[in-house]
Order: sequence, then C-alpha cells, then structure tokens
Amino acid sequence: IWNQCLEIIRDNVNPLSFKTWFEPIVPLKIEGKQITIQVPSQFFYEWLEEHYYSLIKKTLTKVLGEGAKLVYSVVMENSSTDETKTTINLPSSPKPIPKPSYQVQIKSSYESQPFESNLNPRYTFDNFVKGDCNQLARAAALAVANNPGGTSFNPLVIYGGVGLGKTHLIQAIGNYVLANKKATRVYYVSSEKFTIDFVEAIQKDRVSDFSNFYRSIDVLIVDDIQFFAGKEKTQDNFFHTFNALHQARKQIVLSCDRPPKELKGLDDRLISRFQWGLIADIQPPDLETRIAILKKKAEDSGVELPQEVIEYIAVHITSNIRELEGCLISLLAKSSLENRKIDIELAKEVVKTIVKDTSVKVSIEEIQRIVCEHFEIPPDMLKAKTRKQEVVTARQIAMYLCKELTDSSLKTIGLHFGGRDHSTVIHACQSVEEEMKKSEKFRNLIESLRRKIEFNSK
Ligand code: ADP
Ligand code: MG
Repeated sequence: IWNQCLEIIRDNVNPLSFKTWFEPIVPLKIEGKQITIQVPSQFFYEWLEEHYYSLIKKTLTKVLGEGAKLVYSVVMENSSTDETKTTINLPSSPKPIPKPSYQVQIKSSYESQPFESNLNPRYTFDNFVKGDCNQLARAAALAVANNPGGTSFNPLVIYGGVGLGKTHLIQAIGNYVLANKKATRVYYVSSEKFTIDFVEAIQKDRVSDFSNFYRSIDVLIVDDIQFFAGKEKTQDNFFHTFNALHQARKQIVLSCDRPPKELKGLDDRLISRFQWGLIADIQPPDLETRIAILKKKAEDSGVELPQEVIEYIAVHITSNIRELEGCLISLLAKSSLENRKIDIELAKEVVKTIVKDTSVKVSIEEIQRIVCEHFEIPPDMLKAKTRKQEVVTARQIAMYLCKELTDSSLKTIGLHFGGRDHSTVIHACQSVEEEMKKSEKFRNLIESLRRKIEFNSK
C-alpha cells in the first residue's frame, strides 16, 4: 500500500525532492485506515508536514479511502551520525515521537467540496520572487488577478523554459482570485488532464457535460498548452471553450514552454486567438534574482544560510529555479540527515551532485585584476621582474588561482605573467599549497579570492 502511495507521490514531486523526502521513509504498519511511517528526524517530519501536507493527504485518501490517518514515528535525534544513517535503512528500533504522537487528520471535506479548483495553495504572489527575468509576466499576472476578465490581458499567455516559474505564476493568479474573492469558480488544469478528461468524456458519451463544466468557469487556467499539439479533436473542443469563455468576459490564463507562434501542431486559429490578449515571457533568472530566491526560500524554511553558501549555489546553479530549489532542499536534507552544519563544503558537495561541471569560465586577466586589487598593487607588477615580497606572494597566488580556475596550460599561464616559464608556475602553485596547509588565515584568503573571482565572472 505504501508503494502505491509512493507511486502517486513520485508523479507529483520532482525527482530530487522525492529522493530526499520520500525514499527515506520506512512504512511500519497499517491498521485499517491508519498507516504508520517512520521518518529519520523531527526536522524531516516537520518538513513533510510543512511542504507536502496536501499531497500526502490527497494520496492517502486516494489509496486508503476517506478517513485515512497518518501517524509519524520519529527516529531518535541525538544518536551519532552513523547510527542515524543505519536507522534510516533498518527499521529496527523506531522510537515513537516523544510529544503526543502526531496524527494527520484527513478530513472528508475534500471530496465533498462543490468545486475543486485544483490549485496548489503553495503557489502565491507573496512567495514569487520578483526579478528582471519575470517582471512583465508577474505584473500582468497581478493585473489579471485583481480584475479577472476585466483587463485587456485576455487571454494571458505566459511562456518560458522549464522550471522558470510558469506554473507557480499562473496558479498564483488563481489563489489570489479566490483569496480576494474576485471570482468563485477558478479552475486549474494541465493540458494533459484536459485531454484525458475530454477523451474520457467522449468514451462515456458525456461531451456536453464536459463542455458545460468548462463553460461555467470564471477563471480558467490551462498549463503547458504545448501538449495540445497534434491533438486535433481536443484542440477543437478547447477552441470552442475558449471562445465561449472569452465572449462571456471570463478570464483565460495559459502557459506554454515556447512562444505560441513557434508551437507546431497547434491550430492557427487557436494561436491567433492568443494574440487577442497578452503574451509575456519568463526568462532564466539572473544572478541577483537567484540569490534573492535562495534567500527567500531559506527564510521560508526557517533556516539561515551563510551568505557565502548562498552565493556559491547561485553562481553554480544557473539553469532554472526548480534546480535551485532542489539544491537547497538537498542541502537542508544532507545537513539534517548527516548532522552537519551548512557551510561552503557541504554546499560544494551538494552542487556537485546537481551540476556536472562546477567550473566557472574565468579569465586570467580577471584573476590578476582581483588579486592585485586585494594586494593593492598595479596589475603590471605581476608581469614585472620585481622580487618584492608582497608582489611575489600576489604573483604566486594569482598563478595558483589561474591553474585552479581556468583551463589554461601552465605554459599559457606563465606567458601571462611576463613570459615566465611553466616551472615557475609549478613552483608558485606548490608554495601556495604548502602555505595553505600551514595557515588557516592563508587558506581563508585564497578561498575568499576564489569566491570573488567566480562571483565576478558570472
Ligand atoms: P515551470 O512551470 O515554469 O516549469 P514552476 O512554476 O514549476 O516552473 O517552478 C519551479 C519551482 O521554482 C517551483 O517550486 C516554484 O515555486 C519555484 N519558482 C519559480 N519561480 C519562482 C520565483 N520567481 N520565486 C520563487 N519561487 C519560484
Ligand atoms: Mg510547469
């Protein structure tokens, strides 16, 4: 039964979250509609409750039926790192949670609610971080949320690559509309679900019920409409639904993974309808936004991350926000499961599992510039013959950092330092490494220079 639950959960969370938060769970027993699961720590339990409450609830209701109950059993926290690890794998001696054993009461109200919006309450404007990359889309979404059907942004089409926040933003509209009572019948659906439901309606000879249902909606939000491609009958039905809603001044919000014009296999008449409203894009987040998002997410999870950890992650994880979030989750999980403090080392380990190539494209000139800036010497001095101690140190550090941070050969590096040969570069690197072994202060200096260089090169 637990495996059945896991299958459903797996389909609803990203793989990393699944691995982090669901795989370590050990099912202990099932009594009637009550299932007891073992989790590795209090933090783990709180995290599940905080972030996956509604998913777990829905899943259990689906599998066990109405009135399903969930009991958590938390493994002792003060055991050493190793023991904690073993306990996760071996469900031998679970210690029941000390405080009143927690029970999630799953109410039956969910089934009997008259109109289920399908919205995930987690997606709000409040926790959507604003940045240059999403400014227009966010502003348009807010305008629509405040006045659904009443702006010229109808439909509102949000497009952009994976993990950039389309689903978050379009659901935020729905949640805002409901919270502020701007309309009552808000409905979120993915284009896949729309398609499946439509096909089922045909099979059961209930197409008119299907159409009537959709035409009764005040705010219709359809996610990932690229999946309508090639499904002509579904598109046809959607086209008519669209027209009916639009004519009735109901709001339509759509998302899509590319500019609508580039959608292949989508009816031209549908695409031309999209031009009636506003088409807004979401771009990949810039460094500043990535930092802001990490800060916000950490804050929301109630943890304080050292600035250097935030910067390290933001510098290295660039592709999308889902990955950024996944990285943070892994970081918190690793720190909690292995009982380690969150520092740059831990961050490096986690980032390495997410991005294969953590090197940042850095130029020799940039390294020289930053090192000289630190030592307050003019960059030319690195190339000059001078043997003044300070210059020698700066030169050696700069060479070492060039070796560590660029793909340049030792020969090339030497050439950039006034035509010195590669054995000089080797010697410099060895001296720096020696010194790093001896002095913590020196190590910290190198580390901070490295960060500064990587940061500036993004
Ligand atoms: P998409 O639908 O574009 O693939 P999602 O909306 O699913 O992307 O976003 C991926 C994850 O990143 C979600 O957990 C979402 O909450 C988060 N996210 C995306 N954009 C932002 C943002 N601007 N601020 C905060 N979280 C964001
Ligand atoms: Mg999405």
